[in-house]
Amino acid sequence: MVRVVHTIAELHKILSPLWRKGDPVGFVPTMGALHDGHVSLMKQAKADGNALVVASVFVNPLQFGSGEDYDEYPRDLNGDVKVARDAHADVVFAPSVAEMYPRGFLTYVDQDKLTDKLCGAHRPGHFRGVLTVVLKLFNVVRPAHAYFGQKDYQQAVVIQRMATDLNLDVKLHVMPIIREPDGLAMSSRNVYLGSKHRQEALVLHQALSRANELVAAGERNARKLAGEIRKIIGQSKSAKVDYISVVHPETLEDLNDISGKSVIAVAARFGKTRLIDNVIVE
Ligand code: AMP
Repeated sequence: MVRVVHTIAELHKILSPLWRKGDPVGFVPTMGALHDGHVSLMKQAKADGNALVVASVFVNPLQFGSGEDYDEYPRDLNGDVKVARDAHADVVFAPSVAEMYPRGFLTYVDQDKLTDKLCGAHRPGHFRGVLTVVLKLFNVVRPAHAYFGQKDYQQAVVIQRMATDLNLDVKLHVMPIIREPDGLAMSSRNVYLGSKHRQEALVLHQALSRANELVAAGERNARKLAGEIRKIIGQSKSAKVDYISVVHPETLEDLNDISGKSVIAVAARFGKTRLIDNVIVE
C-alpha cells in the first residue's frame, strides 16, 4: 500500500512518529513520469532497511529556464503512484507549486564553481532551483538516507557539496544509470523523442561506451577521447552537442589527462529534446 499526500502537514502526520523514535526515513526526490531508473532508487531505499520510503513527485518550476520544457514536462500522477506502489515505496509526496513556494517566497540556495560547469553552463539558474527544492524537501522529509541517480552526475555532486557545506544530517546514495535494452539512458524526457530521434539518440551511449573502451585500452588523452566521442555523436544528423567533457569526479574541473577516476559527460539536443549521459572511468 502506498499513501499519496499533497501537503506538508499530511506528510508530517505520517513522519513525526518515525522522527520521534529515530527510525530512518529513506527519500527519493523525483519530478515524476517515473521509469525504471526511479524504481531502482526506491528499491534501494527499501533494501537499505529504511523504516519508511518517501518518493516525492514535483515538477520544480524553479529549475527550468525560460524557453525550457516546464509546461510540456510529462505529468502522470496516477501512473506514478502505481509505479511507486510496485516499487514498494510507502508514501508519494506530490505537493502543488503553491505548497512548495507560497506567496512571499524569497530564499534560494546558491553554490559557487560546481554549478558553473557542464549543464550549469548551459542552463543558467538550473542548479539554484535544484538546490533550493532539494534543501526544502530535505527539511520537509528529514530523511536519514536520500537516493539519487548517477544519470544526473553533476546534480549528485552539487547536492553532496550542499549537504557537506550546510551540515545536513542525511547520507546520500548515488545509484547506477538504468538503461533501455538498447543502451539509451532512461529519462522522463525520452517520451518527447519521435522514432527518428529515439534511434539517433543511441549515439550518446555508443560514444561513451567507445570512450570507456579506449580508456581501458590505455588512452589517457582527454582531447582525443572527446574527439572520438564527437565523431560518433556526429553520426546522428540531428544531434547538436552542448558539451563533451572529461572532468574530475568531485571538482568537475576539465582534465587534460585521465590519471585516476574521471567522468566523461555529454549533453546533446535531438530536435527539442535535450539528453545527458555519462560514464565513470578509472
Ligand atoms: P528526475 O525525475 O529526472 O528529476 O530524476 C529523479 C532522480 O532519478 C534523480 O536522482 C535522477 O538522477 C534519477 N534518475 C533519472 N534517470 C535515471 C536513470 N536512468 N537511472 C538511474 N537514476 C535515474
